This record gives sequence, structure tokens and C-alpha cells, in this order.
Amino acid sequence: MDIRVICVGDELLTGDTVNTNLAFIGDRLAQLGLALQGEICAPDDERRIIDALHICQNADVVIIVGGLGPTIDDLTRPTVAKFLGRQLQLDPAVRDGIRAYLGVRAASLPADALDVQAQVPEGAQIMPNRNGTAPGLILRHHRTLWALLPGPPRELIPMFNQELLPAILPQTQADWDAVTLHVCGMPESTVEKQVRNTLGDTGGIHLAFCIKNDNIMVRLSQPCSCRHEILEQAVHALRNAFGYHLMPPPHRTAAEYLGAILTERRLTIATAESCTGGGVAAALTDVPGASAWFPGALVTYANDWKTQLLGVPKQTIDTFGAVSEQTVHAMLDGLLNNYHTDLGIATSGIAGPGGGTPDKPVGTVVVGAAATNNAWREVKTFRFNGLRDSIRARTTATAINLMLANLLNH
Ligand code: ATP
Repeated sequence: MDIRVICVGDELLTGDTVNTNLAFIGDRLAQLGLALQGEICAPDDERRIIDALHICQNADVVIIVGGLGPTIDDLTRPTVAKFLGRQLQLDPAVRDGIRAYLGVRAASLPADALDVQAQVPEGAQIMPNRNGTAPGLILRHHRTLWALLPGPPRELIPMFNQELLPAILPQTQADWDAVTLHVCGMPESTVEKQVRNTLGDTGGIHLAFCIKNDNIMVRLSQPCSCRHEILEQAVHALRNAFGYHLMPPPHRTAAEYLGAILTERRLTIATAESCTGGGVAAALTDVPGASAWFPGALVTYANDWKTQLLGVPKQTIDTFGAVSEQTVHAMLDGLLNNYHTDLGIATSGIAGPGGGTPDKPVGTVVVGAAATNNAWREVKTFRFNGLRDSIRARTTATAINLMLANLLNH
């Protein structure tokens, strides 16, 4: 199955917009065992869009993203129509749909503004847009299906899932038989080692590992010509090996999985954060219903605040430094003793770019997770590479995973 993507927009080539639509489409197709064969990014320029259409014209499916708006630089619709030799015709039903979507705002637009987006190449199938004005279009031409989708992700994603996939799936044959597993509470290197130890020589199974949000994604795939049972047996072996560390569906993040465990066990959690500046609290409150188990967080960035709000002894900070296991232990003590949750997370680190020393270079972070009444506790020092943003993001993910690992093991 040859599926190609063309993304249209100057902003994608100037770096103003990150091409998240490509990532979404590639990921979604991969989940279905379909491999994207290529992508072209074209500027808002008719000649360049036509170049891209030429390159892709023998594919089975060509997905063209963006440039469907009403402005002068939105060239996708007329350019594709011209390339395929189709006339553009005003579709009154599409115009009525856009008017209904805009509601009272439609009255303030020039009379012909709606007509631009209601121009449809002859023979096109309309994909309704419930989150914007530009409808999506499907054109079948010889053996190729051409799909035109709007650029804004909040419009593209539902249209892709609800309209385009049902149209293309019946005529596709998966290239890959694939299963994706998500492991929490373990570092990537440990996950990879354990997968390889469990599966031994994987034969025809291709393995891919990557950090996805705050968990490790393990993708097992094999060509569709191989027996499906081989993949099933491998997945079964990994389920046994990782046990509770395999994130059960429908959770997408370790924070969601943690929230589900806290709800089930009726536990509460709070955070005391320094270098993450509330990042752990933000990740936890991303989970709907977090108020049932998360009363709050303390962001104690300055040493004074660690002492005043958490009771961290000044002497501990002076002797061992704010980024030390001793200070993080004291932060956990203060958090659990004064704020009375069942569980606590604490972070302290040097996110950079300044502040590093030979002993504690930038990227040194200490993360702690503990249960009240000293039931259990783990405080660990990590050295992360990278820039400030990624060090802070990794610290957040590590804190959640450290908590999760301990809860799963107790
Ligand atoms: P509109 O009706 O909003 O103009 P459109 O189909 O014409 O829709 P574009 O004008 O190409 O879409 O893009 C609108 C916005 O959508 C861009 O400014 C950008 O923020 C976002 N966008 C477009 N393409 C992508 C992409 N590939 N990845 C992520 N965001 C994108």
C-alpha cells in the first residue's frame, strides 16, 4: 500500500509551525499496520504544489494537508482540481453548512467569502468539518484516492479519524502486523534489555523503542506474510515479563495510569517541586478527575521557601546543597508531615543553562517518592543530558514513574 502525504504551507517551511499533522498521520497509520511511504512539504506556491502532486501521482492514497482556507494563499483546492482536470463548482449544500457553522458571524463576512470554500472539484466526495469552515474532500482518480484535509490539527484529527479512515480502510491491505505496548516505571535501557532477554532471538519480529510522553513505547511488528501467532506469543511473553508495568489501555500516559491506581486504592498525593516548577502537578492535573486524589502542590524554588513551607533545615541545605538527596528527603518529610497526603513526590535539580558545578553539572536532578508513615520511600539522583526544557520534562516524567514503580511494587 503506497500512501503519501503532502503538507502545504509556508509556515511549515519557515519553522513557524511544527509539522505535527505529519506525526499524527504517520502514527495513526502505523497503529493500523500501514507504512507511510513518503512526505513532501510544499510552500503556498502553485508550481511547487504541482511538483509534489506529480511525484505522488502513482500512489494508492495521497493525503494533502492545509491550504483549504478562503484566503488568497490557500491554493490547494484549485491546484488539485487543475492537476486532475476537474472543474470547480459551487456546492450550495457546502455553503449552507459553512454558514450554519459560522452562525451569526456569517452575516459580518463579505457575500462571496463563503463561496470560496464552497467551491468543490467535480466528482468530489465531501468530508464535513465539524470544527471549522473548510470541508475535506476525497477525489478518486484512476487508481489513486486523493484526500484534501484542513491544516489546523483540531480540524484535521477528527476528520482523519471519522471521515477519511473509513473511506480508505476498506481498500487497504496492511503492510505490517504490529502491536504497540507502553511500559511505565522503568528506564528505557532496562525496558529494552528486558524485552530482548524475554524474546531472545526475535526472528522476523522487528522491535522499536521510543520514549512517548512519560512512558516507553515498545512496537513489535512483522510483515503481514508472517504468522500472526508469532506476534501473539511474543506479546504474551512480554505481558508476563512486565506485569503491571505494562500500561493497560485506555491510559495514554503514566500520569493517567497513576491516577487510576490512586483512585482504585483511595490514596492522595501532593508534590513539593523545585526544578520542575510545578511540572509534576501540571502533569497530574492533566488527568480528568485529579481533584479526587490530588489536593495540591508546593513550588519551593528558593531555599528560603523550602525552609519556610516545608521545614527543610537550613543546615541541610548549607551542608549538602539544595540539589541533594538529603534536601529531597527533608522536602518529602515536610510535605507528608505538614500536608497529610498518603503519598508525596519531591524534585530538586539543576536544569541549566547556568548553575552547574564540577560535582553537580547541569542535568543533575534528585527525585523522591514516598508514602506516609515511612511505609516506603525512594530518593534517587539522575544525570540528564540536554537543554533546560528537556531536563525539566524528563525530571517530571521520572518523578511520576518513580512513584508508579513503587506503587506497583508495593
Ligand atoms: P483554514 O481554514 O484555517 O485557513 P487551511 O486548511 O487553509 O485552514 P492552513 O491555512 O494551511 O489550513 O493552516 C492553518 C493553520 O493550521 C496553520 O497556521 C497552522 O497553525 C496549522 N497547520 C497547518 N498545517 C499544519 C501541519 N502540517 N502541522 C501542524 N499544524 C498545521
